[in-house]
Amino acid sequence: MISSSQSRLTKKFHQSRLDLLLDTWISRNMQQTYIFTDGEDEELKKKIGGHAINTNCSAAHSRQALSCKMAVEYDKFIESGKKWFCHVDDDNYVNVRTLVKLLSHYPHTQDVYIGKPSLDRPIEATERLGDNKMRPVNFWFATGGAGFCVSRGLALKMSPWASGGHFMNTAEKIRLPDDCTIGYIIESVLGVRLIRSNLFHSHLENLQQVPKSELHKQVTLSYGMFENKRNIIHMKGAFSVEEDPSRFKSVHCLLYPDTPWCPSNVAY
Ligand code: UDP
Ligand code: MN
Repeated sequence: MISSSQSRLTKKFHQSRLDLLLDTWISRNMQQTYIFTDGEDEELKKKIGGHAINTNCSAAHSRQALSCKMAVEYDKFIESGKKWFCHVDDDNYVNVRTLVKLLSHYPHTQDVYIGKPSLDRPIEATERLGDNKMRPVNFWFATGGAGFCVSRGLALKMSPWASGGHFMNTAEKIRLPDDCTIGYIIESVLGVRLIRSNLFHSHLENLQQVPKSELHKQVTLSYGMFENKRNIIHMKGAFSVEEDPSRFKSVHCLLYPDTPWCPSNVAY
């Protein structure tokens, strides 16, 4: 039913970030998850085989490097034949059950782009038209750090601007990061509107505000630093903050208490 949760990451994070995801949400969703990395990783291949994809993109955090990775994700999705393209970062927890439930309200054959905008207004960009001509464009985009999904029907329409080398060219046209480029192709070029969901979360928002009673309803979670302080969801859970700084292990035990490494004597 769900079709593709895609996780992008860089080799330097494999130990710290990826093992946490493999032990938690990915362990329950191997068939739907592809991991895009910028280096060969034999250990990862042993765990998920052909679902580990080396993008051969540079390991930098540059606009070009991240667009290169998104382009590979897009091409892989088209090739996979799956119904939904969902991108997440390697610091996202995905509650696949609620994601599937959310997507089931929409037909994958229609134009669907769903996620959370990172700004409270459309982004203002300049489109380079060639012949040194420029044009201002405004559009909404879903922040990549919270995860977003695109239906297959819409993804196929994006092909002239997103497939093969086209994605990198499109990103250069507006000189914005990969997630903005997705928004540009969908909203500005194709005229399809972003569907906003508050169930997607990045570490750019205050994660303390996600109420524990609503945790199981969220589609994605994240963790990170904000103004030198830990930005994590607030929950008591199975593990202490020292044992589980991201809170992902505690979240996973809340959602899947039958997981072998979850303590069985905790009242969730
Ligand atoms: N990333 C990457 N190469 C890098 C740095 C980051 O591919 O050199 C990926 C990373 O794995 C993550 C995403 O880009 O999936 C966002 O990175 P991060 O969370 O470190 O930074 P943020 O943009 O959230 O501040
Ligand atoms: Mn991040």
